[in-house]
Amino acid sequence: MDKSVLIIGSGFGALTSALRLSKRGFKVEIVEKFNKPGGRLNQITKDGFIFDMGPTFFSMTYEFDEFLRDTDIKSGVKFKELETLYAVNFRGSKKNYFIHKDLDKLAEEFNSLEPNFRDKMERFLNAGGNFFNDVENKVLKRNYDSLWSYFYAMATVPPKYSPRLFRTVWSEMERYFDSREVKEIFSLVAFFLGGTPFDTPAIYTLLSYTELKHDGYHNVEGGMYNIVKDLVKEIKNKNIKIHYNTEVVGYKSENGKLKAFTDQSGNEWSGDIFLVNSDAAFFRHKIFNRKAFSEKKLHNMRWTLAPLTLYLGIDKKINNVPLHNYFLGDNFKEYSKKVFKNSIKLEKPYYYVNVVSRSNPDSAPEGHDSLFVLCPVPDLRYKPDWSDKEIITNNIITDLSERMEINLHKHIVSQTVMTPEDWGNNFNLYKGSGLGLGHNLRQIGGFRPKNYDEKYENVFYVGSSTLPGTGLPMALISSKLVVERIIKKYGHIST
Ligand SMILES: Cc1cc2nc3c(=O)[nH]c(=O)nc-3n(C[C@H](O)[C@H](O)[C@H](O)COP(=O)(O)OP(=O)(O)OC[C@H]3O[C@@H](n4cnc5c(N)ncnc54)[C@H](O)[C@@H]3O)c2cc1C
Repeated sequence: MDKSVLIIGSGFGALTSALRLSKRGFKVEIVEKFNKPGGRLNQITKDGFIFDMGPTFFSMTYEFDEFLRDTDIKSGVKFKELETLYAVNFRGSKKNYFIHKDLDKLAEEFNSLEPNFRDKMERFLNAGGNFFNDVENKVLKRNYDSLWSYFYAMATVPPKYSPRLFRTVWSEMERYFDSREVKEIFSLVAFFLGGTPFDTPAIYTLLSYTELKHDGYHNVEGGMYNIVKDLVKEIKNKNIKIHYNTEVVGYKSENGKLKAFTDQSGNEWSGDIFLVNSDAAFFRHKIFNRKAFSEKKLHNMRWTLAPLTLYLGIDKKINNVPLHNYFLGDNFKEYSKKVFKNSIKLEKPYYYVNVVSRSNPDSAPEGHDSLFVLCPVPDLRYKPDWSDKEIITNNIITDLSERMEINLHKHIVSQTVMTPEDWGNNFNLYKGSGLGLGHNLRQIGGFRPKNYDEKYENVFYVGSSTLPGTGLPMALISSKLVVERIIKKYGHIST
């Protein structure tokens, strides 16, 4: 007999789970709060410009290949590997530091700042690589049935890595490098995880290995949203329906099982199995009202950065700005430590800029360029009021104009701004936190919200705030892990 799965949300974790489950004979249906699929991997089209709403690059693309093999899908998604990953500019300096994947070229960039850079970087990356190889399959890509199973998995990791659990990314950088600039630039990986180098465990320096030595960074031909379009095409082929503008707000249970979720109009959505792609911690609070996820507990958890994002269409080409850029200031430590707590003014913010139309020329009209700006800001716990968004936006545009040597204010013909409030409201992200739960020791592995429900045996979770963590490749692994769990319980329906 067919088993039906109702999926709540259509983020990357949901779409890939839907196709994995459909391949195994489950009858899948999706309800989505937003008006389009993709969750944070979304798209904005406005005034003749096309912007990816969130993610701008993909790493660990071999996880996408694994997904395609698992589902027998022939994908039209074309990844383009970046040789120069990004450029970094410090306020007050005209120099851009280019982060090349080629170590010789990278060493040329940094030798004057850091003597013996190549040797030091090689040692740093090898240490990260060894750790990555020792944990990828043993710890990262695993389901945990209990804390003990997590401790057991951790015990299989060589003890030489233990100090990395207790050091921070920053202190790890200090062990290898002397130059302030080098330490700041290569500790930016902590921000990619939504934290800072001062509160993210040193184990995550493995990200430097994944970006510089391993699979690197990839853009997607035609824009990141092509991934979603491609998946949705397959979803239609498999007769999986997605119902948009449908938000789950309640539930009905019977005999220890969940019977149905209810939406904002009172409609019931039933299934044999339910897979929640909404934030795994916030959903347990908002819908199930669980004690372990009370407002107070959520408030005290570590959440990742909140995004303030700008989507700018400009009426000229800017050829002097690299594709991916980080614009940093001159008070890195102080700024990093204070920004997320809202204890530093956003007058001179740090931010990331992607010249979208450089990698995807169709995203802007002829002779125009499109820019995506991401400024990490405090979430709504620390800054609930965003009525000053225009002032902050202007600060960013003025700063960027100075650094790009062009008065952007005069050339912007399309402008959209999303605050943490918008991100939170659109996708049910707790207090607008952009990447979900943080990655400190108490919130990873066996400590992260489980991908199965504590109370209802037919409810499961997929996405950033459950196993294994945040980012697109992690969402793919999350879908693999949860489908493994569902299959273990219900078996293959057919193949
Ligand atoms: C600004 C920004 C930049 C990023 N850049 C990158 C990057 O460059 N590379 C990278 O790898 N990652 C990046 N990320 C992270 C990446 O976008 C996420 O980790 C990933 O997309 C999350 O996927 P998910 O499966 O958790 O689903 P989500 O994207 O969280 O989707 C969940 C879906 O569930 C829906 N939903 C929620 N609650 C309900 C409900 N009650 N009823 C119905 N539907 C509901 C939401 O509307 C949403 O569509 C970025 C994130 C942000 C915010």
